[in-house]
Amino acid sequence: MDKKLIEMHRVRRIYSKGKSVVEALKSVSCEVKARDRIAIVGPSGSGKSTLLYCMGGLDDPTEGSITWPSLGVKNELRPNKIGFIFQMVSLIASLTAVENVELPLLLLNKNQSEARMAAYSALEAMELESIAEKLPEELSGGQAQRVAVARAFSTHPKLILADEPTGQLDHPTAQHLFDLLLESLKKTDTALVIATHDLAIAERMNIIWRLEYGNLEVEE
Ligand code: ADP
Ligand code: MG
Repeated sequence: MDKKLIEMHRVRRIYSKGKSVVEALKSVSCEVKARDRIAIVGPSGSGKSTLLYCMGGLDDPTEGSITWPSLGVKNELRPNKIGFIFQMVSLIASLTAVENVELPLLLLNKNQSEARMAAYSALEAMELESIAEKLPEELSGGQAQRVAVARAFSTHPKLILADEPTGQLDHPTAQHLFDLLLESLKKTDTALVIATHDLAIAERMNIIWRLEYGNLEVEE
């Protein structure tokens, strides 16, 4: 049986601000197993980001439970076991591409030369060797997002959570990023949960989750 990476049971997430209350997730139960390829689709505001943040331990549910049976406790998930790719540019502006990619490895106390080597190999997998020494402002949107993918993979995580990573890119650039991302998943045996509006991407996953007003429907 495939190992369970995440188990969510009746997760509810409520945001309240003054008198306004938003129920971003209503009662979501789901699981992610090793090597799963899951697309989360749904209109803007349906709870996709909230679900991903809860899965990655970046946010906590108001009610319900989330466990990471084969990954461990919440404080140990990042950056080694779960890699995150955000929708907006999330690189550190004052660091070069390779320095951005090696940062998670340095946080994990790898030595500098080991971290640098692993960062170069993650950049190579994303076809970015030639821009390794550049600053984020010198990169195109597609290159910057591929650096973020390389950073998420640099620690060989068991799971990548990606929040509309191609949302700001044109279609060919998005496809190219996604092809490279899939190649890397295969090499490292990593599972992927990706929120996306792009049906061409969703169709290449083996499981599709539909979110509407915080309700989740699972299709296999
Ligand atoms: P999606 O990623 O599908 O667009 P989100 O998870 O970002 O959806 O948001 C779900 C709902 O929760 C929306 O109604 C949104 O406005 C609300 N929401 C998200 N984050 C916050 C927050 N920090 N404070 C208040 N409301 C929020
Ligand atoms: Mg979102």
